[in-house]
Parts: sequence; structure tokens; C-alpha cells
Amino acid sequence: MVSITREQIAVLIELQNIDVESTRIQSFLNGIKPKVDQFDMHIKAVEQTIAEKESIISGLKQEYRLRESDTKDNQEKIRRNNEKLVSVKTNKEYHAILKEIEGLHKKNSIIEDEILQKLDFLEKEEKLIVLDKSELEKLKEEAAQEIAVLNEKGDTEREKLKAFLSSREEIEKTMDPEVIKRFKIAREQTHGSAIAAVKNTICQGCNMNIPPQMYNELQRFDKLEFCPRCYRIIYWGE
Ligand SMILES: [Zn+2]
Repeated sequence: MVSITREQIAVLIELQNIDVESTRIQSFLNGIKPKVDQFDMHIKAVEQTIAEKESIISGLKQEYRLRESDTKDNQEKIRRNNEKLVSVKTNKEYHAILKEIEGLHKKNSIIEDEILQKLDFLEKEEKLIVLDKSELEKLKEEAAQEIAVLNEKGDTEREKLKAFLSSREEIEKTMDPEVIKRFKIAREQTHGSAIAAVKNTICQGCNMNIPPQMYNELQRFDKLEFCPRCYRIIYWGE
């Protein structure tokens, strides 16, 4: 049997409150890095999409320049053929050159349609990329702001946690080591909440009934009692 006083029970309740708050802070602190990583991943994904679109656009521009130089080559050929026309000797040769000129005009007209289509597409894509980039800037700004808030809160919470842990240590020193030992065992068994009030014969930790004799004994606040169901330290909480 471990004897106890009403004051010691009050201290155990305080310790438990510190534990609950410390756990909450710890889990908040643990959550900061994954949140920051998530922002980074989102930004990287958007940056990658933009880079892919830019590479498509630069490929299209290259194609466009090649096609444009094709039309210039064709125009040059047409010009030379026109010159030849002046000095041809036979009718057959004349028609052959005319046919070639006609073919070159047709080719150029097809290429020009193609170029126009590409230009149209390029123009649209470039407008979209400008939008994407401004969205990216917005995203980066928002992320930086939220991360700054998170980090700032993290610093405050870390200080709070430090204060809790040191006050916890001080409080423990004032207690009977045997009581603290039992408290810690109960905390491990119940994964966090080591002490529970009993109200109306019901343990507030597990919502089960306490045997009547134990319930009566609790009112004396003279020894540590444990809930027979959940193993928490229990106290008279009416
Ligand atoms: Zn219980």
C-alpha cells in the first residue's frame, strides 16, 4: 500500500496536465517538418510543370525557325528558277521549270499554314506560362508566410515545452518517489493519462463502475487506489 494525501493527488493531476500539454506540443513540433516538406513538394511540382512546358515551347520555336528557313530556301529556289526561265531554250524545259516553281509555291503555302498554327499555339502556351509563373510566385509567397508562422509558433511552443519539462522535474522532486513510480507505470499502461477522477462510482478514465468498497475508501484520500479495469490511479472526484 502506498499512502497518499489529498495534496499529492492534486500534484499528480497537475503532472498529468503537464504531460497532456507536453504531448500536444511535441506532436505539433513533430508536425512542422512534414508541413514544410509538403509546401516544398508542391512548389517543386509546379516548377517542374513549368519547366516541362518551357521545354515544349522551346522545341516548338526551334521547329518554327527550321520551317521558316525552309520557306526561305524555297523562295530562293523560286527566284533562281524565274531567272532560268528567261534563258530557256525549249518549250519542254520551260514547262518543267514552271512546274517546279508551282510545286515550290505549294510547298511554301503548306509550310506557312503549319507555321501559323504553330505560332497560334505558341502564343497561347506562352500566355499560359506567364499565368503559371505568377501562380508559382503567389504559392511561394504564401508558403514562405505560412512556414514563417509555423516556425515562430514552433519557437514559442518549444520554450513552453522546456518550461513544462523543468517544472515537471521540480514537482517530481517534491513527491514521494514511490508515488511517482506508480504514476509513471500507470501512464505507460494507459498510454498517457495516468490518473482519473471517479464520479458517481464511475471511473472517468474508462467509464466503468468501481467496486462500492473501493468507492467508499477513495473518500479518505489516504492511499493510492487503482481502477481495476484501466489501472489508472483514481481519486474521489465528486
Ligand atoms: Zn478506469
